Amino acid sequence: MRAALLDAPGRPLRPAEVAEPVAGPGQVKVRVHACGVCRTDLHLRDGEVPAGHLPLIPGHQIVGMTEDGTRVGIPWLGWTDGTCGYCRSGRENLCEHARFTGRDIDGGYAEYAVADERFVFPLPDGYPDLQVAPLLCGGLIGHRALRLAGDGVRLGLYGFGSAAHIICQVAVHEGRRVFAFTRAGDEGARALALSLGAEWAGDSAEPGPEPLDAALIFAPAGELVPAALRATAPGGVVVCAGIHMSDIPSFPYEALWQERVLRSVANLTRDDAREFLALAPRIPVRTTVTQFTLEEAETALSRLRAGRIEGSAVITLQ
Ligand SMILES: [Zn+2]
Ligand SMILES: [Zn+2]
Repeated sequence: MRAALLDAPGRPLRPAEVAEPVAGPGQVKVRVHACGVCRTDLHLRDGEVPAGHLPLIPGHQIVGMTEDGTRVGIPWLGWTDGTCGYCRSGRENLCEHARFTGRDIDGGYAEYAVADERFVFPLPDGYPDLQVAPLLCGGLIGHRALRLAGDGVRLGLYGFGSAAHIICQVAVHEGRRVFAFTRAGDEGARALALSLGAEWAGDSAEPGPEPLDAALIFAPAGELVPAALRATAPGGVVVCAGIHMSDIPSFPYEALWQERVLRSVANLTRDDAREFLALAPRIPVRTTVTQFTLEEAETALSRLRAGRIEGSAVITLQ
């Protein structure tokens, strides 16, 4: 089958012919139709997140068809032990032995993928393959981050890419007021945010027009942490939603004081997936997608690194 391989961190993804994977007991084999491109794939490519094995097939927002004709999605959480303290307390996202799709298990930048059948989800009708793919990480992680941010009305979104453009729609649907914080001059992202219901879009280095009750940071830039804390009202929550971030610069305690909360969100649980895949079509969430071929996987990552993707990037296999 055709696949895009990561041979080593720092090297461009390489289109290659490799053997088709074989489903073992309890696994399903999926013919991949589309696979979303996540910033985590870029972190793996650039060596900021270590690959589980090399060469690796990245990709953890997989939309495909099982051999019995069911359309399914395969997300980042690929396997858990089910026995550790985290698994037994409803926190399988923190499982000590978790295995992740496109990092420890070969992912969806390929014509076929194999997954544990317990970590595969039927997808809502009414979404084409291309449009549903970004829900599988941008949507699921964004949903988990929004829940952990609490019920505050004034919500700041730092970095307006795949996850933010999805979760903006959820937040507006819930009656929240959304403020989009982007890099100076990123007019495309600001226009997208305003078109999706954000009431303000502006520079992430500056506070917004009003204090925030909560902020979600999707961009991997540590300097946004003190910036978001300064933009947040007393008692507000700042959630770091990415798997990797540059170092956070030091900041005066005053920025955290008055019961502001700073936390991260890691991975997802299967309940997050079931909840969000049921919620998205009710809103309905619409994704803005740029399509790439498998041979263009490296191009997609380069454009993501340069901030030149509006909404989500998705690789299609047909
Ligand atoms: Zn566990
Ligand atoms: Zn992801």
